Amino acid sequence: MKAVITGGAGFIGSHLSDHLIAQGHEVTVLDDLSTGSLSNLSQLKDRPGFRFVQGDILDRELVDELVAEADTVFHLAAAVGVYNIVDNPLRSLRINLHGTENVVEAAVRHRVPYMVASTSEVYGKNDADGLKEDDDRIYGSPVKSRWSYAAAKGLDELVAYIHGTESGVPCVITRFFNVVGPRQTGRYGMVVPRFVDQALSSDPITVYGTGAQRRCFGSVYDVVPALTRLMDTPEAYNRAVNLGGREEVSIKGLADRIVELTGSSSAITYVDYEQAYGEGYEDMQRRYPDTSLAARLIGYEPTRDLNDIIG
Ligand code: NAD
Repeated sequence: MKAVITGGAGFIGSHLSDHLIAQGHEVTVLDDLSTGSLSNLSQLKDRPGFRFVQGDILDRELVDELVAEADTVFHLAAAVGVYNIVDNPLRSLRINLHGTENVVEAAVRHRVPYMVASTSEVYGKNDADGLKEDDDRIYGSPVKSRWSYAAAKGLDELVAYIHGTESGVPCVITRFFNVVGPRQTGRYGMVVPRFVDQALSSDPITVYGTGAQRRCFGSVYDVVPALTRLMDTPEAYNRAVNLGGREEVSIKGLADRIVELTGSSSAITYVDYEQAYGEGYEDMQRRYPDTSLAARLIGYEPTRDLNDIIG
């Protein structure tokens, strides 16, 4: 099989590249190296069947040319990370909307099965008491700042789904819930690598908010094999499938665990959301995936707990 992986120089995409090459497939990575890095792919650069193309998913012709030669497309390229979204809102929105449109349209044009990476954030923050026009919510989320990411990913799902159902070209939408592992960078706000970096440098570990908010971290080593299995499962086509971990932890609990596992002398400090991300920032208190659809479709069962993931 010849696979195109957009965003393949990034965290999840580089692990998917490793996985596909190890299975004997050919892989072409398309990445603009904005948050990804060639060092994530250095182990593959001399492997037969591997090719890296530096380019932008907004480049319609390039996307079309690469997809035309492929048997499968894994679309992972996106503007990600809270800092990135908040600092470059317009560019992020454009990449996440039009970039996905380019990839999906090319896949459908050439009848190439495709996977589109979405996010748990499409579930939004549905804790409002009433539905008012003046709180600028769509999909249950404030559209300001970082929530443009969730809104764009929600539209990506629609683009993927509608093209998939109208064309009959196989399409799978994957909703990732806080996937972590080696090569993930803390530079754009991802909490686990940020805390680990702070712990290893003995800097204060900065918890945003009260630290009572709860998350469930999934290992990239559990998630990546699920992507290829879903693409091989017709019952998964035109479905949005949650993928994540099983162990829930508060962010304060995560900080404590990282201090303990690294033997760090770092203190834990608290910064309020607005100070960290700017005015009007909100976050959800709990994010925990129901992965029973993936379990039913492909027998998905996360095997790594939080200590394995951090270790
Ligand atoms: P990442 O930043 O490591 O990977 C994204 C890759 O896309 C990077 O290599 C980046 O250089 C590339 N990219 C960005 N804009 C591009 C453009 N215009 N053209 C070409 N390449 C471009 O992030 P990741 O965590 O590996 O995320 C991969 C996908 O999974 C993204 O679509 C993201 O939205 C989604 N996702 C990830 C998580 C998670 O927990 N890691 C959670 C939800 C969704």
